[in-house]
Amino acid sequence: AAGGSAQAPRQYKLAPQRELRVEVLPDGPLRVRLVAGTAEIFGTELPPEGWVPVPPRSKVAIFTWHGATVELDGVSESEYTSDETPMVIYVNTHAILDARRSRARAAAAQGGVLEASQGPRVIVVGPTDSGKSTLCKMLLSWAAKQGWKPTYVDLDIGQGSITIPGCISATPIEKPIDIVDGIPLEMPLTYFYGHPNPSINPDVYKVLMKELAQTLDKQFSGNSESRAAGMIINTMGWVEGLGYELLLNAIETFEANVVLVLGQEKLWKMLKDAVQSKPNIDVVKLHKSEGVVLRNPKYRQKNRSFRIKEYFYGIANDLAPHSNVVNFSDVSVYKIGSGHQAPRSALPIGAEPVADPTRLVAVNISTDMVHTVLAVPYAKEPDEIISSNVAGFIHVTDVDIQRKKLTYIAPCPGDLPSKLLIASSLTWYEA
Ligand code: ATP
Repeated sequence: AAGGSAQAPRQYKLAPQRELRVEVLPDGPLRVRLVAGTAEIFGTELPPEGWVPVPPRSKVAIFTWHGATVELDGVSESEYTSDETPMVIYVNTHAILDARRSRARAAAAQGGVLEASQGPRVIVVGPTDSGKSTLCKMLLSWAAKQGWKPTYVDLDIGQGSITIPGCISATPIEKPIDIVDGIPLEMPLTYFYGHPNPSINPDVYKVLMKELAQTLDKQFSGNSESRAAGMIINTMGWVEGLGYELLLNAIETFEANVVLVLGQEKLWKMLKDAVQSKPNIDVVKLHKSEGVVLRNPKYRQKNRSFRIKEYFYGIANDLAPHSNVVNFSDVSVYKIGSGHQAPRSALPIGAEPVADPTRLVAVNISTDMVHTVLAVPYAKEPDEIISSNVAGFIHVTDVDIQRKKLTYIAPCPGDLPSKLLIASSLTWYEA
């Protein structure tokens, strides 16, 4: 049944291993309730009682292992049931990862070699709309349900699910991912790249991956539980050319030992061949779910701006950002990496101009910055910016060149924690 106009509350009786796929409209609202049995949304169980709001614009599957009756209330864009899902394969994959975690924990308890106490470092790869983020969520929630605290690493700067787009981030997952709130945001470790596309500056993207991986390694060395629980790494859907090269780079940088390839035989074969000299990496081919919803570039662009809006206003529009004004002289804005090379005329005769892709460039505040996002790094000095993770973001709402004042919104009141700011090409226009 397809929705559109007003819909009465309706019940679906789902046989074991069936799922109800629902697309929620941009302005929702839609809610779901478990009437009988048990069911989960991407690895997180529906509570036995009460209505659960399904966030606007989301596309979800309500899956049952043992059979369930669920009730929907509200308008949807589409809803239908299916019994063709790859869920059994996915949960079997989870079981194998879980056994590896237990082995790692046992090895840590015996104080053996460090290598043995490392749990699975899983990287999920595949073309766009193959269900990578969804598989990551399931693997994380199933692991958390069993008491593990795996680390979620999101390398997808286009449709990332931890903070805003343009970032790579990591965060520990301590309980199944909340259906409404999504990935917990209390303590993400975030590095700011500033663009939704890695080809703008792939070298910076690589440097940031390295910084993130090193920081996680440090954290794991003092925490055998996180080390044993391992990581689930989500990647971009760009799997050709430079995109493929960056995937190989990510596998190496994060020392992944399990590569899950979704929905593309060719990519699986290429990766398998590429890592064949490393016997401790398993490259596994998995089916993609037919339920994964295709999203066109326009949808993706829109979604990026929603993610930025959500950062300031909350998923349910329940946060109120704070507006603030600073003098140009109170802040220094930098950009990482410039495409600009030193002009030939400025170089000694015979020298070739080289662009340092990770060079820091001071930028003047201009009206071009209005509507863009700036990141606030923890760095105290400009030369620490590239290796620094970020505390948060601000959104520029006005630049007054004459009075030399910049107006911005921030999620918290008070002064900026740092004088330093990182510029980006990420924009969001208040509707
Ligand atoms: P990208 O690389 O483009 O970021 P992806 O491979 O990570 O995409 P997902 O984000 O996991 O793909 O899935 C795309 C959309 O399909 C999401 O909105 C997700 O919630 C939805 N989806 C995934 N699986 C199902 C399913 N079985 N039924 C309904 N919707 C689903």
